[in-house]
This record gives sequence, C-alpha cells and structure tokens, in this order.
Amino acid sequence: MITANDFYIVVGLGKSGMSLVRYLASQRASFAVVDTRSNPPELARLKCEYPELEVRCGNLDVNFLCRAKILFVSPGLDLKTPALQEASRRGVVLSGDIDLFSQVVKAPIVAITGSNGKSTVTTLVGEMAKAVGKKVAVGGNLGEAALNLLSDDVELYVLELSSFQLESCQHLNAEVATLLNISEDHMDRYAGIKEYIEAKQRIFIGAKHCVINVDDHYSSPLEWSGSPTECYSFSVKPQADDFLGFKLMSLHGETWIAFNNQPLLPIEKMKIKGLHNYANAMAALALGHAAGLSFEHMISALLDFKGLEHRCEWVANIDDVDYYNDSKATNVGASLAAIDGLGGDITGKLILIAGGDGKGADFSSLKGPIGKFCRAVVLMGRDAKLIEQVLPSTVQRIYVDSIEQAVKESALLAQKNDAVLLAPACASWDMFNGFEERGRFFKDAVRGLLL
Ligand code: ADP
Repeated sequence: MITANDFYIVVGLGKSGMSLVRYLASQRASFAVVDTRSNPPELARLKCEYPELEVRCGNLDVNFLCRAKILFVSPGLDLKTPALQEASRRGVVLSGDIDLFSQVVKAPIVAITGSNGKSTVTTLVGEMAKAVGKKVAVGGNLGEAALNLLSDDVELYVLELSSFQLESCQHLNAEVATLLNISEDHMDRYAGIKEYIEAKQRIFIGAKHCVINVDDHYSSPLEWSGSPTECYSFSVKPQADDFLGFKLMSLHGETWIAFNNQPLLPIEKMKIKGLHNYANAMAALALGHAAGLSFEHMISALLDFKGLEHRCEWVANIDDVDYYNDSKATNVGASLAAIDGLGGDITGKLILIAGGDGKGADFSSLKGPIGKFCRAVVLMGRDAKLIEQVLPSTVQRIYVDSIEQAVKESALLAQKNDAVLLAPACASWDMFNGFEERGRFFKDAVRGLLL
C-alpha cells in the first residue's frame, strides 16, 4: 500500500509505467521514474502531464534505486536485471502494476493467463458480463492497463495477464483464475519452460475459484501456487459420461458444449471456429459461471461473438481460395492451433505463411501438422531458415522478402478450395511494428490481389 512517508520508483515508462505514474500521483505519493532507454515511449506525454516529476533515463543506478521502498517494475524489464537484483538484495521490494492493483482493488477479479487464447477469452468474459448487465472493466495485458481501470463503479474486473506481469505479483487474490494452456513462448527471456510455467502459475495465488483445462497438464494449480475452494474443468477431448465440467457432447447428430452433461449450445451456431476456440468458449463459460454470471446471458454473448482481429480472421475469398489472417500466432502453439483448426475444416490444403522472430523456440512440433495439412509453406523473416529445417520433404517451400510478395506467391501456389493462412509462429519485430501491423499489411496485400 502507498504511504505518504515513503519513496517509490517506477522502472520502465511504457503503458503500465504510465498507469503507475497516474495512480501514484493520484495518491500524492513521492516517486520518480527511471528507464534504461534514452527516449522511452511515454516520455513526451509524461513531461507534458507531470513536468515536475524526476525522470532518469539510461543505465540503472543501483544507489538511486535503493532510495526507494518499492520498485514498480514494468513487465518489459527482466526482474533478473543485475541492478534490480542488487536493489532487491539490499532490501528494496520488487513489485509491479498488477501487484499494486490487487492490493487496492475493491471488486472481484476474473484473471486469465496462458500461452494462447488469453485475449479471446478475456474479451469474451467481458462481453458475457456486459450481457448480464454488470459494470465490467476489461484490460491488463490487453487494451487498458489495469490501474487505469480502477473505479468505485466497477462491479467486476476481467484481466488478461502475461507471465511477465505475474512474476512481480505476490497475491492476486482473484475471484476466479485460469491458466488456459502452456506451450513454449518467450524462451529468449526464461531459463527454460519450468521457469515460464512457474511465472504463469502465480495467477492462482489466493484465488477463490479456478478453471482448469484438463487437456493440459500444466493448467492445474500446483501445491505452492494455490488451493482454490472450487475448481471447474473443461476439455475438448472425448470424455466419459461421468466427467463433470464443460465438454463437447453429441446430441441429435450435432456437437454441443455441455456443462455437467447438460447441453448448453451447439458449436455450429458459434461464429468462432476451430477446436481451440471451442476450448476458449468453454473457458469463458466456466470463468463466468464461477463469477456468478447466468448461462442464459453468457450463451447469448457467445453466439454474438465474432472473434478478434488478427486471430484466424477471415479476410476474403478470391478465385475459390480463402485468406485468413492469424498474425497473432506469434508462437508455435498458436500457429499449430490455427493449422490444425483450419486444416481440418477445409476441403483443400493450406498455403502457410510463416517466419519472423522465433524468440528461441523449437519449431519441430510444426512438422506433423504441416505435413498433414499444407501444400506449401511461404517463408519470410529472420528465423525462416529454422522453420525450413523442420519441414517435411513432401511440402513445397519458397522464400520471400515481404508480406506483399508472400501473398502474391501464395495466390500462385493455391489451388481451388485451398486456404492461405498467415500464422507465422514467430513475433513480428524483425520486419514490422508489431503483429497488428503485420496483419494489416497482409490484409492490404490480399485486397491488392483484386486490383
Ligand atoms: P493471446 O492473447 O494469449 O495471445 P489470442 O486470443 O490473442 O491469445 O490468440 C492468439 C493466437 O493463439 C490466435 O491467433 C490463435 O491462433 C491461437 N489460439 C487462440 N486460442 C488458443 C487456444 N485455446 N489454444 C491454442 N492456440 C490458441
């Protein structure tokens, strides 16, 4: 908690850093801001809004850091940074925006993490809560920073949380928490998958309820991370009749989402498609149910939900070939979900556009699904060669230098009833200003085929 007599430092001036500045200023706290970059993204805004505030850019000065009681570290900065570790060793507390949020928030939190599906599930739970008529605030790693959402009017917070945000959070105390799934990501920042899982598991600390994906071993709370009083399970794999929780079941020749063997809705009626999205839908229903939302309203929100931009987004059908933008597939797990999901749904084959900054990932699990569903793979970006190394010999491959060229070559490779899928399995930073820009350029290039 913030007190008048102590001094605080915000480390990192990005979106969450700026939310910390606003919150600390609103509490009349004594604090400063540091950033290792010479011109951090929010500096101009900060200078304009808080001209008196002390800001130090460049190398972190441990002695200065040690003047603080608490360092609020941005998720963009590794807690293992030597200056932060030294400050911690000398007794300074390392915290973050979510840690502070959890201490001051008054309404219940629905907390969502996982390697993939976070934004989809977070948005969906937000829509469900709105359908019920709740005053809901949605954000965190998605959209608005958590501290900016704080308001006495809010009845429910729905937060997407990254592993980096959870690392500096001691007790989230969520009403309901979930770890949707684990697949390798950010291996350039973690020593290994175990460390990454441990960061994600922190979401369960102090949670009242939890939602578990029984298809993913790492989704359940570990002994140290929590013992929620009530757990709801979901699965998209075949389950026996005595399975309690959310699952798929057959009814009159249709597949339904069911809870405790009671059918809720047929998946045919949903606008979002693919097994991974049925898992996301179940996770959202389970989270909402644990938070007290009614099934009737949640189902109506689910039926209306069209999915998010850049997530398996249908762009166009040109000459009997569908084009899908899954630019948000920034890791192998996400790309696999898109290839499996779409590949199983179409009558033709996939032309996959992949490559970019692989963040140290192992691409070998792409081999099977690419061999099964892809006619060709169009490779681009820094780690294109690493992906090529895992391609089965039966699959055609071609290198390109730009997304425009990738789309043109894909159009030439595609046959009737095929689909062209941008699902890069990589981050975009080597060629673009983020996955949104990559997705927009892809869509422009697809529309360009019509000119
Ligand atoms: P996140 O916020 O975790 O990145 P998104 O909802 O934005 O998740 O989806 C990102 C990508 O991950 C999508 O484009 C899709 O390919 C894939 N994806 C979505 N949901 C899942 C899931 N439940 N399991 C595996 N992959 C998924």
